[in-house]
Amino acid sequence: MKNTSTKQRRIAIIGAGPGGLTLALILQRHGIQPVVYEREPHDKSSERGGSLDIHEESGQRAIKEAGLYDKFQELVRYEGEDFRILDKTGKIYIDEVTEPVEKGERPEIDRGTLCDLLLSGP
Ligand SMILES: Cc1cc2nc3c(=O)[nH]c(=O)nc-3n(C[C@H](O)[C@H](O)[C@H](O)COP(=O)(O)OP(=O)(O)OC[C@H]3O[C@@H](n4cnc5c(N)ncnc54)[C@H](O)[C@@H]3O)c2cc1C
Repeated sequence: MKNTSTKQRRIAIIGAGPGGLTLALILQRHGIQPVVYEREPHDKSSERGGSLDIHEESGQRAIKEAGLYDKFQELVRYEGEDFRILDKTGKIYIDEVTEPVEKGERPEIDRGTLCDLLLSGP
């Protein structure tokens, strides 16, 4: 009979972005060794995307599950959380202004820095 226990399953993750790398770390913490495939041949932080705000209930929770929350806290920036969407003419479609707070709930981190953190592991 074919053995389908969790430890013997092979898991491939397509894409070494924040999502794929976080999933890989969490699986590793549970004793599962996935293989991550990434199509981009270069690994230059400066070309790996802009600043992401990481929400408490989703991204931060996943980073905690991956065992990287303390290191993450050393790298994030607590900046203003205003949110604005405008078109090329400057017409504003969404303009959310938040109260200035010392430490908000959505700290910012560059996508490349986050990927480096995830690649370095706990
Ligand atoms: C302008 C902008 C602002 C954003 N701001 C935020 C924000 O503030 N907060 C936030 O949480 N999110 C934000 N996002 C969304 C953000 O991009 C995602 O949260 C984050 O990058 C998702 O990570 P991911 O790993 O799922 O996907 P990606 O970061 O898109 O990574 C996917 C990876 O998969 C690789 N890949 C794709 N197809 C294949 C394939 N066939 N084979 C192998 N590799 C493949 C890609 O090269 C890439 O490296 C923003 C997006 C944009 C465009």
